[in-house]
Amino acid sequence: MMEQIYNAWIKRFEELEPHLNALDAATGDGDHGSTMVRGIRAAGADQATPVKAFRKAAGGASGSLFSLLIGALDKAEKGDAMLPDALAAAAERINQMGQAVAGDKTMLDALIPASLESNIDDALAAARSGCNNTIDMPARRGRAKYVEGAGVGHIDAGATSVVELLVIFAQFVSPENNVTNGDVLDPDSGTAKLTQPASSVSRESSE
Ligand code: ADP
Ligand code: MG
Repeated sequence: MMEQIYNAWIKRFEELEPHLNALDAATGDGDHGSTMVRGIRAAGADQATPVKAFRKAAGGASGSLFSLLIGALDKAEKGDAMLPDALAAAAERINQMGQAVAGDKTMLDALIPASLESNIDDALAAARSGCNNTIDMPARRGRAKYVEGAGVGHIDAGATSVVELLVIFAQFVSPENNVTNGDVLDPDSGTAKLTQPASSVSRESSE
């Protein structure tokens, strides 16, 4: 299934490339979408060592930071780690590597809240709200801190990428959106066609 996830990530980030570049242009150097596309394409083409492939192709500090998240999701999908543990470990290593903490207007503002949830759907919701919160934050790390106003009024590009990585991941691994074949991805909306309405599935009843 990881192969299908990489393919869906590639397609999604190719669509998002201009948007992510524009977000990064408001707070940085305008290359974040292109960086992600390069990294994800390389990881998808080298699934034996996706973290290294992503890091090398994406380049720069953010290439290393995002390669840790790719590695965490890869591990979780393969059952080598529980998703919350994998996300928390990635967040911790990203913090060690980049020295950013929660509230600095980075990818961590989506990733840390996501890592505190026990399942993928709640993790995605937490990442989304964490990402939206970056709009009010002044950047203290990365290039955005050098921009006038430190990016206040703009959503962080990297936090947006965290959400988008999780959106696709959830489409494949969520028990509600149990997509087993990449063909059921709706190419127009970029969302999975549910085999049954999500609202008809009660998580409580299955626990
Ligand atoms: P670069 O800043 O090298 O141009 P990108 O544009 O690809 O890299 O990525 C920028 C994103 O990386 C930011 O939006 C932010 O989310 C994230 N980022 C930058 N610096 C850090 C850091 N020190 N810690 C965590 N995330 C960071
Ligand atoms: Mg950039």
